[in-house]
Amino acid sequence: MSADHVERAELESEYEALLSFMYLSPVGIVRSDKDGVVDMMNPLAAQLLMPLVKDGSIENIFDSLASVAPELRNLVSSFQAERGPVCENHRVFVTQAKDGPIVLGCSIIKVATNLLMTVLSDISRQVAAERRARQTEAWLAGIYTSVNDFAFFTLDSGGRIESWNSSVERLTGFTEAEVLGRSLSRFYAPDAAVSHRSPEHIALTRDEGWHVEEFWCETKTGRRYWGQLLVAVLREVEGDISGYSVVLRDVTERKLTSDNLKRLLTTDHLTGATNRAHFFELAEAEIGRAQRQGRPLSIIMLDADHFKRINDTAGHQAGDEVLKRIAAEAKAVLRISDVVARLGGEEFVLMLPSTTTHEAMEVAERLRRAVELASIETGVGQLRATISLGVASLEDAASTLQELLAAADKALYDAKTAGRNCVRTLGGAPISAVNPATNERSLYRHR
Ligand code: GH3
Ligand code: MG
Ligand code: MG
Repeated sequence: MSADHVERAELESEYEALLSFMYLSPVGIVRSDKDGVVDMMNPLAAQLLMPLVKDGSIENIFDSLASVAPELRNLVSSFQAERGPVCENHRVFVTQAKDGPIVLGCSIIKVATNLLMTVLSDISRQVAAERRARQTEAWLAGIYTSVNDFAFFTLDSGGRIESWNSSVERLTGFTEAEVLGRSLSRFYAPDAAVSHRSPEHIALTRDEGWHVEEFWCETKTGRRYWGQLLVAVLREVEGDISGYSVVLRDVTERKLTSDNLKRLLTTDHLTGATNRAHFFELAEAEIGRAQRQGRPLSIIMLDADHFKRINDTAGHQAGDEVLKRIAAEAKAVLRISDVVARLGGEEFVLMLPSTTTHEAMEVAERLRRAVELASIETGVGQLRATISLGVASLEDAASTLQELLAAADKALYDAKTAGRNCVRTLGGAPISAVNPATNERSLYRHR
């Protein structure tokens, strides 16, 4: 066969692998252009979308979801970057099924200028469980918190604000005239993902007697706050609901505390990379997934060269700038699904799911080059730095995270002894070639 033929055969088999991956995927996958015109979709996506379309054809993903998530088109068109996640697990409330609402998690990834991948999954159960937890929390807080933190008002049967209480003005800044007859969306922040969802809060309340939800709100003067909305059926006469009572609370502080806490717990504060503890958690889970699905996975371990010298000559702060830049360069060469973590000191590890040793070697080389070429701004002028990298992959007979890290660390050591500023892998050598007795020590040697 000619080289051309070989290449085409390779492309075809890759394409077939992609198709069978899509076909078997436990989530709905839709490929479209930037305007939503669908050119590929797996059976689960069709199954999830079919109840939403009237004429049974799914030609455009945005049109298909327009009745339940009209905001998606805007989210995509206002997304500036050339590629990246447009939304992640954006919640789309679909219908009122007998045994609870159907909620789809919708993630849209812009893969190229004119190519979108939309991933859909049914997250109804998860949402129902979260709602129960929030309801409990909201009622308990309602009992314990002072009345000043709340706005109370009522809605008519159609969800329009019917009666008003001065607490509303205290919290939201709106006067009576500005809210009467309006819907709950009056309080939403303009960019809140729930802007279209006021009728849904009412529908959920009608079905279950009450409903709790949290989202960004905005006061009349434009102050943003994280609002918790609790809607309950107020009156029921012979099965007909004639109104709802609403409690709106400003719970920003709690939201910020929990978001911050999460960030603090998972990221390295100097470089913004994933921290060591969180990396181990992510990596264990990802390796498990890769093995179950028979997918490759590679890691790259890297360490700054002669970093002690940089610290000694330019100062510790300049050294910190170098570390930040290394993390930034790593993020820039990786995909969104990859992980950049700081293991400690001047040592980082990158995790690349669905990536073979060969591909990871190329990524590592690109990163090595990017760092070598970077002029790094520091308080004492521009600096240059280099890194050494070691690559290991699940293909190389490694099957646990410890084995992978040990193999990458060994390869990194090879790169250091080969003169630094280079990339090495154990080259498919069985992992047993790594002396198990020295694994532990070599793992921590660079710290
Ligand atoms: P090699 O090329 O063999 O890796 O040499 P090296 O000098 O980089 O290696 P060594 O492990 O001897 O030195 C690492 C240095 O990194 C020593 C330590 O003070 C410094 N370091 C560790 N953490 C930080 C940090 O957060 N900021 C700065 N500026 N320096 C750090
Ligand atoms: Mg070093
Ligand atoms: Mg080191």
